[in-house]
Amino acid sequence: ARKFFVGGNPTLNRSTALIKSLVAETLNTAKLDETVVVIAPPAVYLEKTRATANKNIGVAAQNVYYKEKGAYTGEISPAILKDVNVEWVILGHSERRQYFNESNEFVGEKTAFALENGLKVIPCVGEKLEHREAGKTMDIIFAQLKAIADNVKDWTNIVIAYEPVWAIGTGKVATPEQAQEVHAGIRKWLADNVSAEVAENTRIIYGGSVNAKNAGALSKEKDIDGFLVGGASLKPEFVNIINARL
Ligand code: 13P
Repeated sequence: ARKFFVGGNPTLNRSTALIKSLVAETLNTAKLDETVVVIAPPAVYLEKTRATANKNIGVAAQNVYYKEKGAYTGEISPAILKDVNVEWVILGHSERRQYFNESNEFVGEKTAFALENGLKVIPCVGEKLEHREAGKTMDIIFAQLKAIADNVKDWTNIVIAYEPVWAIGTGKVATPEQAQEVHAGIRKWLADNVSAEVAENTRIIYGGSVNAKNAGALSKEKDIDGFLVGGASLKPEFVNIINARL
């Protein structure tokens, strides 16, 4: 069975208060027997978050590069993350694809490198509104998945995040039916192109305007294995999202 998984992505937001109140007081008391929780603060807060969060909470970076070390000013490597006991990374978030021109291939190569160097990875996929309206949602997502599958050999440490770009930060959450349809499509693609076992075991989480009110219905869909939460991860209601399925 796929253990329910909830990631918090505070994106580019000052996180001192988040670590102090949300992580220290709230997340550390959340019931984690049936849910994996991972929090992904901006890089400068990773160590502080790791030191504050109890050991059952995972800590993730929001990005990582695909070199171990060297002259790559401004970048962070898997080795550096592991050096400060960070074991997860989000890769290919739509904001990185959009504002930093990250291509499908670049995301696929970074995903493979991070995995090979001992990190667990949350690669993100998702269509823009124009793609959805043109009926191209699954074409876009399959191309994103293929670039990952072309590079990755072992899927054990991957959690796929489906984040429709039109739902991120807009308050326009996908309906449970819309999200389930895409999640099922992703799982079928994995079965057809990777293996039945990877399709069955890989968690596919939903992100895009998830909040305490809509999380319950989404969490009941058969192929939705959790969430990647942006805005609401900065608020106390994050705990209600973590507990959505309990
Ligand atoms: P929101 O939950 O703010 O829509 O952001 C989703 C997201 O991008 C998480 O990675």
